[in-house]
Amino acid sequence: MEERDSNQNQNTEDEYEKICYICRRPESKAGAMIQMPGNICMCHDCMQKTFDAVTKGGMDFSQIQNMPYMNFNFSDFANMNIPDAQIPQKKKIKKKKAEQKEEPAFDLKDIPAPHKIKESLDEYVVGQEQAKKVISVAVYNHYKRVFYKHDPAFGDVRIEKSNILMIGPTGSGKTYLVKTLARLLDVPLAIADATALTEAGYIGDDIESVISKLLAAADNDVEKAERGIIFIDEIDKIAKKKNTNTRDVSGESVQQELLKILEGSVVEVPVGSNQKNALTPMATVNTDNILFICGGAFPDLEDIIRERLTKTSSIGFQAELRDRYDQDPDILSHVIHKDLRSFGMIPEFLGRLPIVVTFRKLTEPMMVEILTKPKNAIIRQYTKLLELDEVRLVFEEEALNWIAGEALKRETGARALRAIMEEFMLDIMFEVPKDPGIGTVVITREYLEKSGGPRIEMRG
Ligand code: ADP
Repeated sequence: MEERDSNQNQNTEDEYEKICYICRRPESKAGAMIQMPGNICMCHDCMQKTFDAVTKGGMDFSQIQNMPYMNFNFSDFANMNIPDAQIPQKKKIKKKKAEQKEEPAFDLKDIPAPHKIKESLDEYVVGQEQAKKVISVAVYNHYKRVFYKHDPAFGDVRIEKSNILMIGPTGSGKTYLVKTLARLLDVPLAIADATALTEAGYIGDDIESVISKLLAAADNDVEKAERGIIFIDEIDKIAKKKNTNTRDVSGESVQQELLKILEGSVVEVPVGSNQKNALTPMATVNTDNILFICGGAFPDLEDIIRERLTKTSSIGFQAELRDRYDQDPDILSHVIHKDLRSFGMIPEFLGRLPIVVTFRKLTEPMMVEILTKPKNAIIRQYTKLLELDEVRLVFEEEALNWIAGEALKRETGARALRAIMEEFMLDIMFEVPKDPGIGTVVITREYLEKSGGPRIEMRG
């Protein structure tokens, strides 16, 4: 039994890279390691430096860069189990599997065709038809590019990366769509907030921390991370600041710094931490195959679009046109790069997000649908919970409309639905299990408006 355990440990250990105890580089970077007693590994460079230090007279460890312990004696390690010498599991780097290089982990056949992707998205995301369609095609093409990049059939045609920019009001399903997509495709996903990012060297997270997050989501498996999705939310908050003389460390400079990872570059990131220091092992991640999706609400963008549309028309019709555009609920769909530039996004940044999708503001019928239709709709969740107590939960149509209308008033999109539901379902979930005679609970509009109670039907 013990032997089996130790074999298993050995196997899982084999999946992780050895890390040099002194310079903290993994063996994929530093080359083969010299294994020493006490589970310590050292790369050839550091070993050489150590010998040099010895031959120069006296072994002065303080001269060796990044040396975590000074003046210690290696022979002390021989029979000691020193916990610091072991790297915590969450900081270990999974080895790249050599055979996976030739054979991708999942074949393109495993990536469903765009209409299949959209069909699956439809089960969760309500409305946003155009966005779902565009994204399904973009994702399909993206993974086709990933897996067939080196295929001779493509000749010297280089398929460009299809990073995506999502524009739409808050709570309209941008993040939800990305999360659903990553789950369906079974790829790791990292969600970052652009407002937390600052130019390297300033207080805040630097750009590489986003890649670190993705690596963590992929269980430190570099290869898996390199096929993942990174969603950067609130991207509109890093628009160029207007009329400023100070250094724009969280706006334009962050856009500048994002350029290189959006396009595809090799980034060295700390594993299991967002800080680089001597004790953190580093992994090398190539962002070329990572799909970047940026999202934001872009307030005031509608005005910029409207202004451009009315200006470009001939003079006499302006008033009439302004009227028409004022009424257009889908004005965002007319967006072009020029509008986004006026908003404060730099052209190089926009150039790296060739696919722009817009999300519509949710309407009352859409809200009702979100409450009831998706596979994991909130009402379905409550119904399931009460079903376990053998109680049937029913919502009158009028009650559903009331909840949807109330959510619209809060202007936080579908996010408000859960908050409203929780407000009034608390009492139901508390009271109903008290009386085993209750068979059905009908939520009425009167109950929600606080002018009546729910309709209770007893069993049998
Ligand atoms: P944002 O557009 O601000 O990123 P989210 O995607 O985070 O908004 O939406 C918040 C929540 O609202 C989601 O977790 C999801 O449950 C729900 N939601 C929003 N839009 C939709 C939609 N179109 N279909 C289904 N659920 C939605």
